Amino acid sequence: MMSRHALTSLLMCLSFSATLHAEVHSHGQGQVLIAQQNNQWVIELILPAADVLGFEHAPETQQQKNTIKQFKALTKSPEKFVSLQPNCEFVSKNLTLPSDEHEEHHGHGHEHEHEKESHGDVQLSIEYRCLSQLEGITFPILKAYQSLASLSVEWITDSGQGATKITSSNTGISF
Ligand SMILES: [Zn+2]
Repeated sequence: MMSRHALTSLLMCLSFSATLHAEVHSHGQGQVLIAQQNNQWVIELILPAADVLGFEHAPETQQQKNTIKQFKALTKSPEKFVSLQPNCEFVSKNLTLPSDEHEEHHGHGHEHEHEKESHGDVQLSIEYRCLSQLEGITFPILKAYQSLASLSVEWITDSGQGATKITSSNTGISF
């Protein structure tokens, strides 16, 4: 049984190289980081909030709050984001929204929320346990949001390292 820590380190390596590529995201372009150790897989999606929510700050209107609620509900079906072979079992997920950091630490309604007009990402990390080696992964999320045009995918698996870019007309990667 490998440690969760080792996988997280792998993901951090990938995140670091991804950060070098683009410090600020471009709308329409998301990122995916994939790390495998033995039968454990972690898939992290980093999507511009502008594409999946339509805004990149803490929700202000009722409509924006509803959008967040709907998105959270969608993440309860990870297969809408990532499609793996049937011999993979969903283990856990972790969702981070652009507003989370401030809300968790300072409560709601603080003025400083409005001071910074910065980009925000939706980060969804999903962990799976797979009984056999995967040959590829498909990302149906590319078809769910019209403005999400591409995903830059990077992976470290037991069989090697790789990177590619996929679009809504070609939503799958092969290892
Ligand atoms: Zn943005």
